Amino acid sequence: MLPSSPAERLSQVRARIAAAAVQSGRDPATVSLLAVSKTFPATAVAALAGFGQNAFGENYVQEAVAKISVLRADWPALQWHFIGPLQSNKTRDVAAHFDWVHGIDRLKLAQRLSEQRPPELPSLQVCLQVNVDAEASKSGLRPEEAGALAAAVAALPRLRLRGLMGIPAPRQGLVAQRVPFAQLRALRDAIAAEHGLALDTLSMGMSADLEAAVLEGATIVRVGSAIFGQRPPHRA
Ligand SMILES: *Cc1c(COP(=O)(O)O)cnc(C)c1O
Repeated sequence: MLPSSPAERLSQVRARIAAAAVQSGRDPATVSLLAVSKTFPATAVAALAGFGQNAFGENYVQEAVAKISVLRADWPALQWHFIGPLQSNKTRDVAAHFDWVHGIDRLKLAQRLSEQRPPELPSLQVCLQVNVDAEASKSGLRPEEAGALAAAVAALPRLRLRGLMGIPAPRQGLVAQRVPFAQLRALRDAIAAEHGLALDTLSMGMSADLEAAVLEGATIVRVGSAIFGQRPPHRA
């Protein structure tokens, strides 16, 4: 059962992250919580911002831009992360409104975001999305493609490559859940070493598997339903 108020759910998720961090000998402050607010209204984001949550994840460009515009005046310091699949024709809005993009899986997308990033804004922080479960999901790069794309993206002027993101298929139990996260971490380490890149980010873990992700080195966990409750369906 979910606790009833968003504030209680937020502190419960923070406690889950902290417990997993401590269990793996990590400082809980090295794991950031991204609250995934897709399909929830700006008022729900503002309520959480009032409890000190400052990073939010969104999947749908138009919905997100509307929310960001509404919240900008009262909450100028919120950080916005685009975590959904991104079509090339929507990159301009993402480059103009977001701080991070987690789902880069082709060079064309990265080039457009770099070209379209407004000059007055800091570099756009990006992660490459790797499909660590080839059979289960279609989005993301194959692991063997990630090194070459990382090197190319790292060379783009208006992007800053931070690391890798993954969404493994659901698994039961901590032991099974840790396997794909460990693979993603090993891949990040290998790419960083081979290409001489400082990749400090592993964006992995959601409501159902965040402990496993933190145990395997997640630096950003993306949590929606455990904070906001069950999502209403998205209307395009
Ligand atoms: C929706 C979504 C999440 C949050 O999922 P929950 O299971 O609700 O925590 C995390 N990451 C991505 C990429 C998502 O699309």
